[in-house]
Amino acid sequence: MTVPASVLVVGASAAGLATAEILRRRGYQGTLTVLGEEPHAPYDRPPLSKQVLAGHWEHERAALRDEAQLAALGAEFVLGERAVGLDAGARTVRTATGRSLCADAVVLATGVRARRLPGQPDLAGVHVLHTLDDALALRADLLARPGADRPNSPGTTGNSPRTTGTSGSPDASGKRLVVVGDGVLGCEVAATARQMGAEVTLAGPQPAPMAAQLGHGAAGLLARLHASRGVRLRPGAAVESLTGERGRVTGVRLETGETLPADVVVVALGAVPATDWLEGSGLPTDDGVVCDSRCRAADGVYAAGDVARWHHEVLEAHVRLENRTNATEQALAVASVLLGGDRPYRPVPYFWTDQFDVKVQVHGRPAGDDEFTVVEGDMADGRFVALYRRGGATTGVLGWNMPKQTLPYRRELVKAYSALTPAP
Ligand SMILES: Cc1cc2nc3c(=O)[nH]c(=O)nc-3n(C[C@H](O)[C@H](O)[C@H](O)COP(=O)(O)OP(=O)(O)OC[C@H]3O[C@@H](n4cnc5c(N)ncnc54)[C@H](O)[C@@H]3O)c2cc1C
Repeated sequence: MTVPASVLVVGASAAGLATAEILRRRGYQGTLTVLGEEPHAPYDRPPLSKQVLAGHWEHERAALRDEAQLAALGAEFVLGERAVGLDAGARTVRTATGRSLCADAVVLATGVRARRLPGQPDLAGVHVLHTLDDALALRADLLARPGADRPNSPGTTGNSPRTTGTSGSPDASGKRLVVVGDGVLGCEVAATARQMGAEVTLAGPQPAPMAAQLGHGAAGLLARLHASRGVRLRPGAAVESLTGERGRVTGVRLETGETLPADVVVVALGAVPATDWLEGSGLPTDDGVVCDSRCRAADGVYAAGDVARWHHEVLEAHVRLENRTNATEQALAVASVLLGGDRPYRPVPYFWTDQFDVKVQVHGRPAGDDEFTVVEGDMADGRFVALYRRGGATTGVLGWNMPKQTLPYRRELVKAYSALTPAP
């Protein structure tokens, strides 16, 4: 393949920025354009539900690069402008303002959008958490004093946040937060808000939070961690609707008929790939942009990050990963193909989550019902490494506050993936 003279990246976040950076780092001299719908320069999302929501970081600290670093990239950043259409054959992207951007290769890195409750009413106090603006709005709402006008977006309020008497640090105590959704994001929001002092209820359909990702053993431990820190858990609780008064949310109604009172609600029901704008482009989309093992969706069109569903040769399936490490690794794979490489992308999936004082790391792609065996440490001590197995084969490794000890097991998993990998 000849190296394209120009590359247009759609989506100016982790995967999009990494694609541009890796191309330059590897000597790419062509024209680079990065188009992003958000007005902000590229920032990192994992701190949004942790340090930024908690207020431990000023939001500027979540920026992935500073102005000088972005300028040094020699790319044109077109920010605050949404792509609304793609002509895949002509590799031309149309934007909401009517601009046409054309390149020899297009990289789709538009990520995902937060899923909402079906028929979710437009009530103040109801939040999702995907963007920086979402995180700041949620934080402001958690800290707003009762009775004061609660803000729905940053910079729109003159309210001073409540503070604790002694430390003067912002405090959400007394705020009743209901988190709808017991996946990783819901758990992180619950943990952070609880540490901010809020009264938190975590409601979701699973028997324990994150059971689908962690399996029952580790999910049970996570449930105990949350409960011990004062998070009220409503496992097996499907949410029916939200209740409100005078335009503001007042509660969450469960299918059982029970209503959980709420001042603030976070809907954390997962995410959907941001492919709506690709309708009519001729590109295959099915829970993401469908790609081959080289992350190629069509001639000269590639996808990276949360939006990409590509053929993983080792897992023998089309896979879409929503995690930070994949955004960078897949960008690397796409940049390599753009520069003439021809290697399939077959990573060992990896995600981490930080909740209270626990770091959980999961390598591989275990299923919730895989056999689960602790191989180092002890669950009772809150520090351990466990292996997931199915049919005698290791499918995953979990580290619970034991990052260093987890690494050798990850290496084993990488070796197992390599052994299964067809030669490049
Ligand atoms: C709150 C939060 C916490 C997280 N914590 C963790 C964690 O602890 N560990 C972990 O492994 N992962 C975590 N993740 C997941 C991780 O952040 C994502 O996997 C990663 O951000 C994916 O990067 P991306 O570039 O593919 O997509 P995104 O980060 O979603 O970026 C896509 C960008 O494309 C833009 N875009 C979308 N549509 C268009 C369009 N039509 N035109 C132009 N631009 C468009 C979007 O506005 C966005 O800026 C977290 C995610 C969130 C939201």
